[in-house]
Amino acid sequence: MKLLEGKNVIITGASRGIGMGIAQVFADHGANVAFTYSSSEAPALQLEKELNAKGVKAKAYKSNAANFQESEKLVTQVLEDFDGRIDVLINNAGITKDNLLMRMSEADFDAVIDINLKSVFNMTKAVQRTLLKQRSGSIINMSSVVGVKGNAGQTNYAASKAGMIGFTKSVALELGSRNIRCNAIAPGFIETEMTEKLDEKTVQGWRDGIPLKRGGSPEDIANACLFFASDLSGYVTGQVLNVDGGMLT
Ligand code: NAP
Repeated sequence: MKLLEGKNVIITGASRGIGMGIAQVFADHGANVAFTYSSSEAPALQLEKELNAKGVKAKAYKSNAANFQESEKLVTQVLEDFDGRIDVLINNAGITKDNLLMRMSEADFDAVIDINLKSVFNMTKAVQRTLLKQRSGSIINMSSVVGVKGNAGQTNYAASKAGMIGFTKSVALELGSRNIRCNAIAPGFIETEMTEKLDEKTVQGWRDGIPLKRGGSPEDIANACLFFASDLSGYVTGQVLNVDGGMLT
């Protein structure tokens, strides 16, 4: 059964990792996918081709989610390209710039807040008028278990991801009466290209500490997004779903 047949979706940061996994699963469920990237043009164009081959409409856009004007321009362009309708927004783009607070520069704090948190404001503002007119929409924000629990060496990242949770709950309260839902996902340890570069012994130690005894995959996160994006979650808003193999339990 296809859960997103004909729905138009915007995903930020889908040129690799979790965002790419979401784009693939959503296209398999019949969604048309507009997605962004920051600099990975070749993988983004390759993904665009792969998604179009599944019989849905897909388009890659180079757009910096941290920039307010660029986000407005992006949404205007997507509306033009996708018949004036947006059903789902997934704020997935994110970065880390880890360091102990003692050594963290102001620039690294600001960059993480701008790309991870201000981007959510930018993109939500940009789609809001369309969703209000439609009187429907689902916004999904990619937070992290680190935003729920905190993590030494990640004050900037944890603050951005916790900020996303406050933003999510507030949007759910503000827009619920217009049938616009907003939820957050808090992934645990998800094995992507990024984690492939880490020392295998360290990674195995992390896996051993997780109740389900494995790292998550982009598809595990995509399946949770599928629930929030589809009508299956029609009565769910303002929630944070930990998708972490039980890590925070
Ligand atoms: P990733 O592999 O590093 O991919 C990040 C994506 O975001 C890329 O497509 C990148 O584009 C894009 N991006 C970066 N800066 C951007 C900007 N300013 N504007 C637009 N796009 C931008 O990361 P990931 O592991 O898939 O993580 C995806 C999300 O899940 C992030 O928000 C992350 O914080 C969150 N998360 C990840 C994990 C994990 O274990 N992996 C755990 C919890 C939460 P380019 O390819 O062009 O650079």
